[in-house]
Amino acid sequence: MYSGVVEGVGPRYCPSIEDKVVRFSDKERHQIFLEPQSVHLDTTYVQGFSTSLPRDVQEKMLKTIAGCENAIITEYAYAIEYDAIEPTQLHPSLETRLIKGLFCAGQINGTSGYEEAAGQGIVAGINAALYVEGREPLILGRDDAYIGVMIDDLISKGTLEPYRLLTSRAEYRLLLRHDNADVRLSQKGYDVGLLRQERYDQFQHEQDLKNKLIEIISTKRITSKDPMAQLLIDKGYTNFQEGILIIEAIRRPHISLLDFLPFLGIEMNERVAMQLEIEIKYEGYIAKAKKEANKVKVLETWKIPAEFNYDLVPHLSIEGRQKLSTIKPLTIAQASKISGVNPADIQVLLMALTNKKQPSAV
Ligand SMILES: Cc1cc2nc3c(=O)[nH]c(=O)nc-3n(C[C@H](O)[C@H](O)[C@H](O)COP(=O)(O)OP(=O)(O)OC[C@H]3O[C@@H](n4cnc5c(N)ncnc54)[C@H](O)[C@@H]3O)c2cc1C
Repeated sequence: MYSGVVEGVGPRYCPSIEDKVVRFSDKERHQIFLEPQSVHLDTTYVQGFSTSLPRDVQEKMLKTIAGCENAIITEYAYAIEYDAIEPTQLHPSLETRLIKGLFCAGQINGTSGYEEAAGQGIVAGINAALYVEGREPLILGRDDAYIGVMIDDLISKGTLEPYRLLTSRAEYRLLLRHDNADVRLSQKGYDVGLLRQERYDQFQHEQDLKNKLIEIISTKRITSKDPMAQLLIDKGYTNFQEGILIIEAIRRPHISLLDFLPFLGIEMNERVAMQLEIEIKYEGYIAKAKKEANKVKVLETWKIPAEFNYDLVPHLSIEGRQKLSTIKPLTIAQASKISGVNPADIQVLLMALTNKKQPSAV
């Protein structure tokens, strides 16, 4: 039997069968899964067959699937529609620019998905509470968290279709690792009062141990007489008569910090040791990503006054002026991410903000 509650005709990341047939017309087949809904039911969900076509068409379509010739539809598929606000009208705190103290999260901001709604919900909730307390909002950057990427995309670029957060949308994927979520977010969580003292102390203790370990492995050499030497020999490394710093050894393929830990007289959680090992092995790439992120941070310090009048700035491109006037970015960093605002517009804007003779409307 068929229960066809589906998400709709159009969303890019869960297209309906009619949408798939049109968009992927070069494909000869589209995979469909028949998923029993429960051990207590005799209904089956036809995964991959979502549709908004009329009921009589659904009846006919279903019967064309091998094995479903005699299936009975208990719930017809339907499309959903929902309204969304213009997310470019939101501050990075998810407070609307139009109504002070009103925070928006989730599907209403143009997203689709459980995680997208939850990620915005926590930020909007935290910021609503901070607003009531008269405190500064919590703003997550693109290099702090995937949530920061999502919110920045929504408020800077807007969205013309339900937005889903994909890892490919983040430019600093090397910084947004799951192993370092505690390093990225513990301090922020503690500052807003969501991370308990006990958990925060534990985090700090772990980071202290990590720093101690960095000191040890950056100064201690493995010589051929050292018991740790066997670990290197076993992995085929023999050329270290002069001795090799442990940190250098770890940079080599197949050599793990975890193997050395028992020899270093430091009791450390394996998760944190792995975090350090990743930081060591990818140090060059991580440093490059941090440098890029810091460049953008400098642009974030260039604030654009809310009442800034772009019509008074000469030499902006027409599209750039329109987009800037509509979106009203808060910083040069945000302005630079708006599609249609080109690098020359950013230069003109920087000049207008620095040159006191400019009409700058500030
Ligand atoms: C059939 C279907 C399948 C889906 N499958 C997936 C999936 O597999 N994976 C995935 O990630 N996402 C999926 N989604 C999308 C996901 O469910 C939504 O994007 C997400 O739940 C949106 O969360 P939200 O909190 O923004 O909105 P909602 O979950 O819609 O919450 C809004 C709430 O506000 C309440 N409300 C509305 N108006 C008022 C009012 N005036 N006063 C008080 N309360 C009000 C509503 O009753 C509702 O409880 C699916 C959606 C559908 C419809």
